[in-house]
Amino acid sequence: MNQNIPRPASPLNRELRCPHCRHLILIASADARGHIQTKCKACKREILFDLDQNLARIL
Ligand SMILES: [Zn+2]
Repeated sequence: MNQNIPRPASPLNRELRCPHCRHLILIASADARGHIQTKCKACKREILFDLDQNLARIL
């Protein structure tokens, strides 16, 4: 009987939401690094995500 099979920790994807309107812009993988610049489809603002510091700011 071997029912306690260890499972690898599943990486948690991060939801990147618009800091202005909270619209879900994209999902980044847990190991994503660096910066992502994109545009919110809901409020049309340019958003810069800093994945290293987990920050989002409106440009
Ligand atoms: Zn927005």
